[in-house]
Amino acid sequence: MSSSSPSSYDLIVIGAGPGGYVCAFRAAQLGLRVALVDKRPTLGGTCLNVGCIPSKALLHSSEHFVWAKHHANEHGIKLGSVELDLPAFLRRKDDVVAKLVAGVAQLAKARKVTVVTGAASFLAADRVAVRAADGTEQVLTAKNVVVATGSAPVELPFLKFDGKTIVSSDHAIAFDSVPKKLVVVGGGAIGLELGSVWSRLGSEVTVVEFLPKIVAAYDDDIARNFTRILQKQGLKIETGAKVTGLTPAKTGGATLLAERDGQKLSFSADKILVAVGRRPFTDGLGLEKAGVELDEKRRIKVDSHLRTRVPGVWAIGDVVAGPMLAHKAEEDGVAVAEWIAGKAGHVNWDLVPAIVYTNPEVASVGLGEDAAKAAGRAVNVGRFNFAANGRAIAAGAVDGYVKIIADAKTDRLLGAQILGHNAGELISEVVAHMEYGGSAEDLARTIHGHPTMSEAVKEAALAVSKSALHAI
Ligand SMILES: Cc1cc2nc3c(=O)[nH]c(=O)nc-3n(C[C@H](O)[C@H](O)[C@H](O)COP(=O)(O)OP(=O)(O)OC[C@H]3O[C@@H](n4cnc5c(N)ncnc54)[C@H](O)[C@@H]3O)c2cc1C
Repeated sequence: MSSSSPSSYDLIVIGAGPGGYVCAFRAAQLGLRVALVDKRPTLGGTCLNVGCIPSKALLHSSEHFVWAKHHANEHGIKLGSVELDLPAFLRRKDDVVAKLVAGVAQLAKARKVTVVTGAASFLAADRVAVRAADGTEQVLTAKNVVVATGSAPVELPFLKFDGKTIVSSDHAIAFDSVPKKLVVVGGGAIGLELGSVWSRLGSEVTVVEFLPKIVAAYDDDIARNFTRILQKQGLKIETGAKVTGLTPAKTGGATLLAERDGQKLSFSADKILVAVGRRPFTDGLGLEKAGVELDEKRRIKVDSHLRTRVPGVWAIGDVVAGPMLAHKAEEDGVAVAEWIAGKAGHVNWDLVPAIVYTNPEVASVGLGEDAAKAAGRAVNVGRFNFAANGRAIAAGAVDGYVKIIADAKTDRLLGAQILGHNAGELISEVVAHMEYGGSAEDLARTIHGHPTMSEAVKEAALAVSKSALHAI
């Protein structure tokens, strides 16, 4: 069923994830009439509904569980028996998500962004049909259309998601019981975060990674130390293991088959979480009707201003090249809104921080030491251990260290990697210094509150010129 006349806007944004809704909000701030379309009944996309936010809620709750069970007594706190109430544990996560998606809906209303619920597909570059779940269809028109349709979990050919034994992150944020044995395929952020959650709740977790190390983008020393810490927490980590097949078990569950250096490996599991990455999602969008091109990795092809080759059609976030991260999608969204409104948008894609929210966290920005050296750059590296930081000792968070990488000749900051509690918060100041072209000395001479874990960042910056004050 089609509505009679099309509704016309200045901008249609397809996809209400962090890329799309932020783009819509910025465009509305700049005076554009905006329609924001999503096939999900709630706004916020992958990030708020099944990604960043629910995973962080679960990480926080499971951290409290471990603390109550194993660490409260270190602080002289006696709790008695500590038990998991899984339905309540999951309900809290659902409440956090519900609060945030409602907040985004409220913001959309306040900004007079028209929210349209349904699956969008192009009829032409400036015409989009939106089909609601009940089959009704409406047509929207606009001079500018931003595609922000995000990504979906990658499925392996012999590990098709069945939602029961072979699962994606969408399922692993909502298991209705704690699996006895959980195998996680993929040692990246999503696999390690969700693996940590279920391990903390009592699962025997094995991470199977194809590459020689987990968190492959990080320096070898960070990955090695991080691996050791996770192993101490109870995670089994099998690197260099190529998954080759699956034998389903008659009683439920399955055995995952793998190979390392010609040796056969097998891992029995109640559930297998496949977390090997995400693919750009353009299914059903009818991009061919608009004339929009994909690249070799099936991402929407855009130029340096996020324009597709079709005038008026733009693409942002996970559906284009670049790190698949919410904050990157948001910055894309702001810049495109500004470009459309005739303003000077800007994104510095060289400075997108990346964070794994385990405990401790790992965080990075810019060039790592290994990558800098592999590129033949002369660098000075400063390192400072949290074990020598007063606040870290007081908090019982001494695992890990800060690494600052600076150009050997100019002292300009090139990057940082942090393994430690709240590393994701600590990395921000390095990003800010780098954004302004700062040097290690600038960072080292910046006054940091005492006692804070951020003093370890200052000390690592001092260590670049071998002048750390609280290390030998
Ligand atoms: C478990 C997990 C944890 C994560 N944790 C983090 C984290 O901690 N930090 C971080 O930065 N990133 C994290 N991410 C990644 C982050 O979620 C994505 O990078 C981010 O959501 C991308 O935003 P986006 O706006 O490009 O797309 P998405 O958030 O994927 O939103 C796209 C939206 O488009 C809609 N859509 C698609 N096709 C159509 C159509 N044809 N019509 C209408 N609507 C459509 C979808 O329904 C969806 O709501 C995580 C992801 C997962 C899965």
